Amino acid sequence: MENTSSLEKSLNTPTKTLPIVVAKGDGIGPEIMDATLKILDAANVKLDATHIEIGEKAFLNGYTSGITEEAWEAIHNKKVILKAPITTPQGKGYKSLNVTIRKSLGLFANVRPAVSYHPYVKTDHEKMDIVMIRENEEDLYAGIEHQQTDEVTQCLKLISRPGTEKIVRYAFEYAKKFNRKKVTCLVKDNIMKITDGLFHSIFKEIAKDYPDIEAESQIIDIASARIANRPEDYDVLVTSNLYGDIVSDITAEISGSVGLAGSSNIGQEYAMFEAIHGSAPDIAGKGIANPSGLLHGAIQMLQYFGEAEKAAFIQNAWLKTIEDGMHTGDIYNESISKKKLNTNEFADAVIERL
Ligand code: NAD
Repeated sequence: MENTSSLEKSLNTPTKTLPIVVAKGDGIGPEIMDATLKILDAANVKLDATHIEIGEKAFLNGYTSGITEEAWEAIHNKKVILKAPITTPQGKGYKSLNVTIRKSLGLFANVRPAVSYHPYVKTDHEKMDIVMIRENEEDLYAGIEHQQTDEVTQCLKLISRPGTEKIVRYAFEYAKKFNRKKVTCLVKDNIMKITDGLFHSIFKEIAKDYPDIEAESQIIDIASARIANRPEDYDVLVTSNLYGDIVSDITAEISGSVGLAGSSNIGQEYAMFEAIHGSAPDIAGKGIANPSGLLHGAIQMLQYFGEAEKAAFIQNAWLKTIEDGMHTGDIYNESISKKKLNTNEFADAVIERL
């Protein structure tokens, strides 16, 4: 035991200096970002961080797009973003900044793992270990939406061959790299025969290049029901933008809490790391949010920078915290948890276990 701990302590050497842009976001964003940065600092992660203002605050300061020119400049210089959730007005107001950032930076792949931490976090799905690979630029999120008349509206679903080839190949390459056994494609090509039909046929074409990985395709509605009921039957999922957004919230929630999962948005030149959840206005300002989703995003960022040992070092401390029953309110369960912690206390508990 002592050997393991001294080995782990020796891993707490500083990282190289990592140039990033930090966006604290809205709602619970600043609370979970402060907690995450505190843990990274204690773990000797050296950041050359430029803080930018995006979302509601930038909007209220007169930037109708929700992002300032200086923020774009910093992003173009640094190329990697660690971002807390931002609030997007529903049904009106400025366009989703998340969608704008993903599209303008070419962040085509959204990687969203959802893992069971049984028996330390309450879940009905002891063995689930799913990675969602979601197409991030096209589909109904391409932003082609029209008001035809007062009573008729339209949103166009865009699925292209180059976009689909990129994401499907990314999913198989991911499966190969991380020794995953199966990739499941989720489509609705019984109804959308042309758009989802194209996605499915490209999936079948590309699957032939990976004979060692099982490839299957399922219709999204029944697949969602099965994923919610038997997630352990699934491994890597690949799908279009909207289905991926919905299904990844389901997988995170049934793993224990939507507050647990982190995500990477990967492009050729840029990358952005975040939690999968939103700005949680219902609990904002109370200091009780779970910072784990954003921390998991930051851990994925360390892997992206080639700091795999540091990533594992922080993940182990986080796991020990969870195993010791030190839980935030969203995963607190009387029969499992030992202590209910607020955001800052949880960050300190992780730091104590580094
Ligand atoms: P949400 O994910 O913010 O919250 C859903 C529920 O989960 C709430 O009850 C919330 O309290 C809880 N929750 C979320 N994160 C939590 C955490 N870390 N710890 C504890 N509980 C947590 O979804 P919503 O309420 O539909 O969205 C709020 C806003 O966030 C909207 O404006 C939406 O557009 C935006 N949003 C942003 C992003 C992003 O920036 N990437 C993603 C999704 C939603």
